[in-house]
Amino acid sequence: MIKLKNVSKYYYSKGVIATGFTKVNLEFKIGEFVAITGESGSGKSTLLNVISGLDSYEEGEMYIDGKETSHYLEKDWEIYRRKNIGNIYQNFNLVNSYTVYQNIDLILSLNGVNKKEKKEKINALLKRVDMYKYRNTKVSKLSGGQKQRIAIARALAKDIPIIIADEPTGSLDKRSATNIIKLLKEISEDKLVIIVTHNYDQVSEYVTRKITMHDGKVLEDKKFKNVEENISRKENNYKNINFANKFKLGFRNTFNILPKFILLFLVYSFIVASLMGEYSFFKKGEYEATREGYNYIFSDTDDKRVIINKKDKTEFSKEEIENIKKIKNVNYLVENDIIIDENFAFSSHDQMLWLVGSINSLDIFDGEVDEGRLPENDNEIIIAGDKDEYNLSVDKESILNHKFYRTTNTGELDKAKEYEIVGIKYIDSPSGYIDYKFYVSNKVLEDFMFETHQNFSSIKIEFMGENKDANTGSNMFKLVPNNKVTTGNSIISEDLNNRCDKENCINKNFTINIKNQYYSFSKTLRIDKTYNQKNINKELDIPNYKKEDFDELYNGIIYINPTDYTDLFNKGTYQMSVYVNDINNLENVVKELNKSNYNTLKVKDTLVKDGATEIIKIFKLIVTCALVFVLFFISYFIIKIILKSRNVYFSVLRMLGASKNVCKELLIIELFIITNVSYFIFIGLAELNKAKVISVNFIDTVNRYFVFNDYIVLYLILILMSLLISIKYASQLFKNSVMSVYREEV
Ligand code: ADP
Ligand code: MG
Repeated sequence: MIKLKNVSKYYYSKGVIATGFTKVNLEFKIGEFVAITGESGSGKSTLLNVISGLDSYEEGEMYIDGKETSHYLEKDWEIYRRKNIGNIYQNFNLVNSYTVYQNIDLILSLNGVNKKEKKEKINALLKRVDMYKYRNTKVSKLSGGQKQRIAIARALAKDIPIIIADEPTGSLDKRSATNIIKLLKEISEDKLVIIVTHNYDQVSEYVTRKITMHDGKVLEDKKFKNVEENISRKENNYKNINFANKFKLGFRNTFNILPKFILLFLVYSFIVASLMGEYSFFKKGEYEATREGYNYIFSDTDDKRVIINKKDKTEFSKEEIENIKKIKNVNYLVENDIIIDENFAFSSHDQMLWLVGSINSLDIFDGEVDEGRLPENDNEIIIAGDKDEYNLSVDKESILNHKFYRTTNTGELDKAKEYEIVGIKYIDSPSGYIDYKFYVSNKVLEDFMFETHQNFSSIKIEFMGENKDANTGSNMFKLVPNNKVTTGNSIISEDLNNRCDKENCINKNFTINIKNQYYSFSKTLRIDKTYNQKNINKELDIPNYKKEDFDELYNGIIYINPTDYTDLFNKGTYQMSVYVNDINNLENVVKELNKSNYNTLKVKDTLVKDGATEIIKIFKLIVTCALVFVLFFISYFIIKIILKSRNVYFSVLRMLGASKNVCKELLIIELFIITNVSYFIFIGLAELNKAKVISVNFIDTVNRYFVFNDYIVLYLILILMSLLISIKYASQLFKNSVMSVYREEV
């Protein structure tokens, strides 16, 4: 079977040559039970390793079944080992974290044995070595004798002709040792068994041959029995491990050593969290860059806003408005959006605090307020702004639940109406962007809306032959709706009444002419009554009326019925603002709108930007890449240290005949699983954060700025990173021969 002719083995290390053994001539046959003895350092182990194909030789010839082996490459030795050799070691080389069953399952899996066959075989083997009842015990819990029985069962698992045992009883008590020798004798019937032993007496009654070594040479070779080799030995034909078994093993390896799993999990979670954090930080920066910039036309520069009108400049029909609302990813719609870009100012009663911002309908306010409560009455409002802004954070007590007047466009306080801020909502806004948003009831919004329309229209009043401008900013001829006035009528101040003959305008008519960029409209109203400082409150029921304010706030106003007032300005919708739900959907929505033949204007495109933003963007990208790079190396070194404890495992696999590639793949699978566990646990945490079960600031940022594609990209980066780490680690691990890795570790 095996023949050595003048074979020598030398070790070269650090320039020194050591002799393993020299000029050995031996021939071994199936059916022999050979004992090799000799003092320590005489070359016994070295000889066994060369015969096993675990170590190379430098001189001479070695024949296997008559074939010369000097041309063998590593791969040939792997095949040779798989087909021929079963090793048994003094220190067992079992996988301690596996159960007895799993240890034998391992070698069968590595050789592509199918599941059903495996089970029968393992059970039969365990019965043969009398260890069946321990099949589900972890190897680390067994005694030395029991471990060696498992090692023998494992060596027998493959149908191989040669069993090589290096001091198999070296660490066993006498009784266990004898049992092991008996077991080996039993199996030597149809195999070649070579054992190395210090204690020849222990084996003398069983062996068929005794070889004594001394100083790297064969001193004596005694045969007690002549053995005829049976040539018609059938070669076993093992397949390679299949994918399902690889995955199963990889999975087992991931979880079976808990501390290792936890450490790797922590490192990977750190990688996932840093990557996510850094990437979302980058996304946030990118997002803010799109919002930086300024604008002379629109005060609401929300990047999700698109302004639309019709190509023919006519008004939108109800149906058209409904259809636009139905477009996918449209969040909400503001009809007659002129009000959005108007700034409204609210002032505290003592005029110490002025809050300026845009107006929105409460209908589009979603969620909860961060301070205070939601409005319950028409005059209650919510203010939204940046959390870092002074008035809303440090000084919020002077805003919340305080009453405010609105300042009119002429800069005066409109003391006729009071508003109370009852809630504060914090919104993220790019640094330096401190305009507030007010959310008001639809009733208030409507008032403001008409007023804004009034401000943006030219309003002429033909009054007793005179043509007066109602939009001068003073109260003279100003139109104000009031419920006490009946439709088609008006109540004017006595001062205006003076302009008529005999100071009596009652029952006379005047005409209002409205003109703005969309339409022209006229309406004629009758003068019903007059008012003065004394009776105004009785005639018109003005809330909070104070006599001393009459000249400043009321005198000169023409009060008309609210329906008539609405009729003047509610002339349909000519321009609207569409808000999309997510900036990433903006382009699609715009495309849809254009398809329906509307003019569109993306407000974000109207921002004036400086060139610095682009440079900052590139810089941020470089920083991100550098971070990924650094992260890779840091984690590689940590993972390398953690995996060091796995070297023994992989050496055992190699000794059992697993190829480098199989080991590498097992490692890849193991790290792949850990990557997935860490990644999806993070995603789970992100979901919990979304559901407000937990609250982590940076996960909020991730949730906010990540879209589906980002999750995919990051997942791929992580998988790639983990793959690179496995490959790099595996290439380092198996750079040297099986034995040298093993020697380093044991
Ligand atoms: P034994 O098993 O009989 O105790 P070994 O085969 O282990 O002896 O060792 C034989 C000789 O080879 C010894 O002189 C030992 O020092 C040397 N040797 C064994 N392994 C190595 C090695 N990895 N590097 C250098 N010398 C070695
Ligand atoms: Mg030895």
